[in-house]
Parts: sequence; C-alpha cells; structure tokens
Amino acid sequence: MFQRRRANNKEVTSFLQQILLNDNIKMNTFDCLFLEGLCPSVGRQKLIELRNKEFEALIHVYYIHYITIVKLNYLENNCLPNYLKDSCPKPNTGDVFQDIISTFQLLVTSTCLITDKWEPSADIKDGDTFNFIIVGAGSAGCVLANRLSEVKSWKVLLIEAGGDPPLESYIPPYDQRLFGTYSDWQYKTVPTGKTNCANVGESVKWPRGKMLGGSSGINGMVYFRGVANDFKQWFDLGNKEWCPDIVFKYYKKLESLQDQKLLRNPEIRDLYGLDGPQVLNTFNRTDQEQVKNLLESYSQIGLEIHEDLQLANLLGAGLSRDTAYNGRRASTATTYLSQIQHRENFKIMKNAFVVKILLDDNSKVYGVVVKYKGEEIKVFASEEVIISAGSINSPQLLMLSGIGEKKHLESKNIDCKVDLPGVAPQIVTTIYHPVGTCSMGPDPSSAVVDSRLRVHHVKGLRVIDASIMPNITGCNTNGPTIMIGERGSDLIKEDYGIKDMNKKGH
Ligand SMILES: Cc1cc2nc3c(=O)[nH]c(=O)nc-3n(C[C@H](O)[C@H](O)[C@H](O)COP(=O)(O)OP(=O)(O)OC[C@H]3O[C@@H](n4cnc5c(N)ncnc54)[C@H](O)[C@@H]3O)c2cc1C
Repeated sequence: MFQRRRANNKEVTSFLQQILLNDNIKMNTFDCLFLEGLCPSVGRQKLIELRNKEFEALIHVYYIHYITIVKLNYLENNCLPNYLKDSCPKPNTGDVFQDIISTFQLLVTSTCLITDKWEPSADIKDGDTFNFIIVGAGSAGCVLANRLSEVKSWKVLLIEAGGDPPLESYIPPYDQRLFGTYSDWQYKTVPTGKTNCANVGESVKWPRGKMLGGSSGINGMVYFRGVANDFKQWFDLGNKEWCPDIVFKYYKKLESLQDQKLLRNPEIRDLYGLDGPQVLNTFNRTDQEQVKNLLESYSQIGLEIHEDLQLANLLGAGLSRDTAYNGRRASTATTYLSQIQHRENFKIMKNAFVVKILLDDNSKVYGVVVKYKGEEIKVFASEEVIISAGSINSPQLLMLSGIGEKKHLESKNIDCKVDLPGVAPQIVTTIYHPVGTCSMGPDPSSAVVDSRLRVHHVKGLRVIDASIMPNITGCNTNGPTIMIGERGSDLIKEDYGIKDMNKKGH
C-alpha cells in the first residue's frame, strides 16, 4: 500500500539530477531558479547554461517568489513523482495563494518598468546594402547609430555580437553578476612573466560588455570627462580636430545633468550640458555617514573636498557623477538607442558577429561578413563601414581582415592587404580601461586612424571607439568614449556636406 511521507534531501537531489540528465525536458529560467533553491550546484550550473543560450537572467531578490511559483507549476503539470507531490502543500485557492500570485505579477510588471523595450533583431539578408554599417553597439556605437540615422536619406545598419541588455545590467548592484556570462566577452590576460604573477595561472579576467550598450552595460557607471590637458596632448600630437575647446563643446552636447542640488550651483550648472541624451546623476547613497567620514579623512590628509570634481579639474576628493537615474543604469543602449530603434532608415542586427571587413583591390571597403543565425552572410556599405567594437575587438577585426603589421599578420597566416604597423601595438590601460589599440595620429607608421578617424591607407573605413585614444585620459573612459562617438558622427556628417541637422531636406 502507498504510504505518504516527505521526501528526504537525497531523494529530491536524485530526482532533480534525473530531470537535468533528460534532454527532452525543456527548462526555463524559472525552473532553474527553482532548482537552485533546492539543489544549489546543479541549479546554478543549469542557469549558466541557459544564460549561454541567451535566456534573460532574473535577479536574486526575486528568487524566493519564483521558487514558490515554479513549485506550483511543477505540481500543476504533474511532473513530480507522487512522493514529492505529497511532500508539498496543495496551494490551489485561498488568500495565501492569491497573495503569492499578486506579488509575482507585481514583480514581473516592475521588471518591465526597469528594462527598455527592445524590438527583435532585424531581418537582414545576404546581399542587403546600407549607406553606413556600424560594427558594435557599445558606448560609441550607439551614439553613432543615433546621430547617423538622424540623416533620413542615409540607411544605417548597426551590428552587435550580443543581445538585449539583461535585467542585471539595469540594476546597479547586479552588474557584476554578468561577468563570466554570455553578456561578457570573458577575456583573460595571458601570462607575461611580469604582471599578475601572484595569480593562479598569472592571469586576470578582463570583462568587456557583449550586449546593446557594450561595456557601458556592465561598467561601474562613474562619469568623468577628463581635463583640458588630456585633449591638448591629443591635439599636440597632430590631431587638429581634437583641441580642448571643441572636445568640451561635445561633452556639453552629450550630457544631461539631473542632480537638482548640483544644478542650484551656477558654476556647475554652467559647466555641464543640460539637454543631451546621456543622463547624469549622483547615486542616492544609503551609506551617507560613511561617505562623510571618508571625505573628512581625505580632508585631514590635505585633499580639498569639492562638490563636483570635474569643476576642480579632477583634483581633490568628492562624489562622482554617475550614468544612472531613478535607481537604474543609463547605458548608451538606454540613452541613445532605445528611443530611435524604430526609425525607418535604421536597422539593428543582434547576436550577429562580424568576422571580416571586405576590401577591394583599391583598398576600398565595401562591406562586412557577418555570422548570423548559423550562417555567414555578406552585407554591403555604399559609403562607409565604421568599426566601434572596442579596444580589444576593433584591432582584432582589422587584423583578421588583413589590416595590420605585415610581419605579424604573415606569422599568423593572414594575407596582409594593408601594412599598418600601428594596429594593436600595445594597450594603454589602467586595469579596466584599455585604450590606444587603433590610435589616432597623422603618421601611418605608428597611428591607425587620422584626425577624422579614417583608417590610414584605406577608403571607406573608420574606427570610432575607445581604441582611438592616443593617450588615456586622466579619468575613467566611458565619458570620453561617448564624446568620441559624438565628435566622430559630426566629422562624418561634415565629410558628406551635412552641417546643420535643422536644415530641411535630410
Ligand atoms: C567592468 C568594467 C568597468 C568599467 N567601469 C567604468 C566606469 O565606472 N566609468 C567609466 O567611465 N568607464 C568604465 N569602464 C570603461 C568603459 O566602460 C569603456 O571605456 C567604454 O565602454 C568603451 O566603449 P567602446 O565603445 O570602446 O567599447 P564597448 O562599449 O566595449 O563596445 C564594443 C561593442 O562591440 C561589440 N562587438 C565587438 N566585436 C564585435 C564584432 N566582431 N561583431 C559585432 N559586434 C562586436 C561588443 O559586443 C560591444 O557591444 C569600465 C569597463 C569595464 C569593462
């Protein structure tokens, strides 16, 4: 006779493992979170696999609710063996059940309020042609997509290797959960015998965002511009389009300072842009007392405290501005892309990996090869291809396409089409901020792009992202990269005779 009893932990684990081994059972994120609640190691493993298959991950604070709901789901679907079913309560009706359902609905609804609404990837076919193709939807790429598609007569395609930003990207404390997942390129440094020698394998992880928004979707959200001297150095190296006055004009164009307290200070109000796409604010910290004590201790060792460090030329101590508002991240996907994704002359290809830039015999670029939905297709550009794939991937793509130092390419069995020794000579970096791998300068023997960001010795190709910085700025690099995107967009428009977007006819 059948005896009702509670299943013990061993039975639960063994049952769950059977589920996991059975490929016919389709699991979703809810199921895996449920598994994680009951059986942490297998559940977590399954969740990671799912993420790799592009499922959106859910944040931990919801776990308990999901676990409850999924348990109910399992019961209703009759997929638990009898001994497990009998070990659980039978929640069908009643106030408690309704409360759980309402909580769940509230949480799901609030999830939609947190994230942007993204359209599916565009239906692009082999042979399609655009005026401009932008490779990479990161800090710079989203800016370019927005600004170039302002010109209605231009057809613009943005190609991104990652997908929509997952929920963790939007919620500040959860961004680091994306390291090592599908939304990160998961790079690691190789041993050099000089650095990271204390680490196992002499290697460190080097996260880079792989999603709409790129690294602005996983970064620390600290916002600085850099100081006039940073850009004077760029200018002095022969980059005449980048004198500090011009650069700061572009910062004002991109910024929208929201902090009401700071805006009451006329000097700060005057310094920042107030109506650009990139929202800036100050985190509403809960650890006010600690921050106060910390600043006090800096003051005691002689550092001046400033309400805004940018105003003080980054000298002293104080709170940073942040690319965030209403408690959520303001990546360039949110600030530059989400609003314009429906423009008729603009398309976004997601989960699409550009493997090669196409050049003809006259070193004119005419398109790219993209891995998309399991196939390699060619997409053509009648005007230009713009590489905004970031400091690691931009030089990599150039080299894979035959643009780089001849000797190096030949050592890797790559046919050299354009001998450009400056591609990825060295990485100028603080830990997280690699720049200078396609640096800007007038001399093709050391630089990759000229002052208008055109690749030397190649027609129809530009690089526009953090990799073009000839010197790293004296601050974090997201703000400077957004500025590069804005400046780069206007340089392109100027080159095609488009100066004033308010004029009719575009
Ligand atoms: C963990 C971390 C923390 C950081 N913290 C800060 C901070 O607090 N403040 C700050 O100012 N800066 C910070 N930074 C640096 C800043 O985010 C970067 O400098 C900036 O985002 C670089 O922008 P980018 O456009 O050059 O590249 P990315 O934003 O990395 O964009 C490159 C895009 O191209 C895509 N891509 C690459 N290759 C291909 C291909 N072949 N085909 C299609 N798409 C491709 C990528 O998926 C990505 O979306 C941080 C960076 C990281 C990684």
